[in-house]
Amino acid sequence: MEMKVFNSLTRRDEILAPLSGDEIRMYTCGPTVYNYAHIGNFRAYTFEDILRRVIEFNGMKVRQVMNLTDVDDKTIRGANAANVALADYTRTYKDAFFSDLKVLNVEPAEVYPAATDHIPEMIALVEKLVEKGVAYRSDDGSVYFNVRKFPQYGQLAHIDFDHQRTGARCAADEYDKENVGDFALWKAWEESDGPVGWDSPWGRGRPGWHIECSAMSMKYLGESFDLHTGGIDNCFPHHENEIAQAEAATGKRFVKTWMHCAHLRVNGEKMSKSLGNFYTLRDLLDKGWTGREIRYVLINAHYRQGLNFAFSALEDARKALSRIDECVDRIENAPPGEIPDWAAKCLEDFTAAVNDDLNIPKAFAALFDLVRQTNAHPVAPVAEAFRRMDKVLGVIFFGKAAKAEIPPEVRSMLDERAAARAAKNWAESDRLRDAISAAGWQVKDSREGQTCTRKA
Ligand code: AMP
Ligand code: ZN
Repeated sequence: MEMKVFNSLTRRDEILAPLSGDEIRMYTCGPTVYNYAHIGNFRAYTFEDILRRVIEFNGMKVRQVMNLTDVDDKTIRGANAANVALADYTRTYKDAFFSDLKVLNVEPAEVYPAATDHIPEMIALVEKLVEKGVAYRSDDGSVYFNVRKFPQYGQLAHIDFDHQRTGARCAADEYDKENVGDFALWKAWEESDGPVGWDSPWGRGRPGWHIECSAMSMKYLGESFDLHTGGIDNCFPHHENEIAQAEAATGKRFVKTWMHCAHLRVNGEKMSKSLGNFYTLRDLLDKGWTGREIRYVLINAHYRQGLNFAFSALEDARKALSRIDECVDRIENAPPGEIPDWAAKCLEDFTAAVNDDLNIPKAFAALFDLVRQTNAHPVAPVAEAFRRMDKVLGVIFFGKAAKAEIPPEVRSMLDERAAARAAKNWAESDRLRDAISAAGWQVKDSREGQTCTRKA
């Protein structure tokens, strides 16, 4: 069966198949590591995880690159306000990001390039744009992209370019469609940058946010690749500018398919750091919700539809997951045999749903149909059908053994904690208990030592 997705560039459903070979090359805009990611950000990352898993479900390979924006306006502001080196400031949030991804059972990307490790590639790309005459150095030593030199500008965001007040220059990374103008590729050093800066042919400075993604995506995926994704707010100006930079430099089509997820909202407004209406993953774990319950809520809405965050949804997720657990526990040790027709039909419906532009709510309906029918039949060999579905959903616990299987990183924290307790270092013991909890596991102490169970 073919996998269809909605391409934001053409605004049509299209078949997703590799441009070359058997691999989909996919770039996903990653976090700006200036703070803990909030669950709105994780809506984008779980959407991308589902996308990646559906590609794999269809037998295609994936090479996914997710950047870490560790230098931009926000990271510099944060580091300088805290009076620490940029790299030290961002390290905390990089580490937190990877541990959050694990809690949410997000499959890791193949490459996580950090912007600060790719400054020479960015400078080379800016030089190329200057040579081609589409970029220019301003008096202060910044370099700007001249949007009027790239006639296709606006193709992704569908901007009616003729009716824009263009010409203004925009030094900030983010601005709205009404203020289209020349955007910064390289930003000259300013007082407020403090110790952050790199030497370049235009003087000391730092890259603009947009050039980071063009340079790193082309380095790891080639000048033309299959798929590029992000939240809908990335569409303009970030992705529009990425296209302009890449296509003006190479003369080739940058990306075939663009996909964007709608926002996670709170009381009708976008969940965002600037509005202050956000929950981090940690906030919810501290309230006793588990990674898989949060994942369930984030993925169980169509990715192109707004999703309003509510605690009642987490309660529903808890109930739904325990229904699945009970059913799977019952059939898990069924004698092997051919999948019955009624289960095969559920799997077929599931496949059709995920291949129809990632219709996960419909896929869950097929899963619950399978639960209902399984419960209505004598024990049947349907575990394989659940397993297939879970390759995409990533929320089912299989087997008492799997439930008890402690991952190596949790195991090593348990070992460290045992050592800390032996040394009566209670602060360290508590810190490790919290870290183990953040990884989705619960540790209890008894005379026999620690027991560790997966949180429900
Ligand atoms: P940032 O760290 O702000 O660059 O955002 C990282 C990713 O999260 C981007 O793909 C954004 O589009 C996405 N994002 C930010 N806020 C939300 C939200 N409320 N809902 C869904 N995605 C979001
Ligand atoms: Zn990006």
